[in-house]
Amino acid sequence: MNKLKKCPFCKSQAELLYLSYSYWVQCDNCFAKTAYFKKISHAVSSWNIRSAKKVTLEDMVGKKDSANNAV
Ligand SMILES: [Zn+2]
Repeated sequence: MNKLKKCPFCKSQAELLYLSYSYWVQCDNCFAKTAYFKKISHAVSSWNIRSAKKVTLEDMVGKKDSANNAV
């Protein structure tokens, strides 16, 4: 299995979580997380790609969507 990179926001350790046939990766410290995936490898690669891209916090929580709705 691929190794998880550190959180792009706080540089803390992330962990792989599982619930109801879904996998996701979440930071232990700030709780930034990926979307839910059916496969472990997808959750891990999603986290690692996000970590490399330096996605903003707004991208993570989806504030842009709610802003569009307001207009
Ligand atoms: Zn974090």
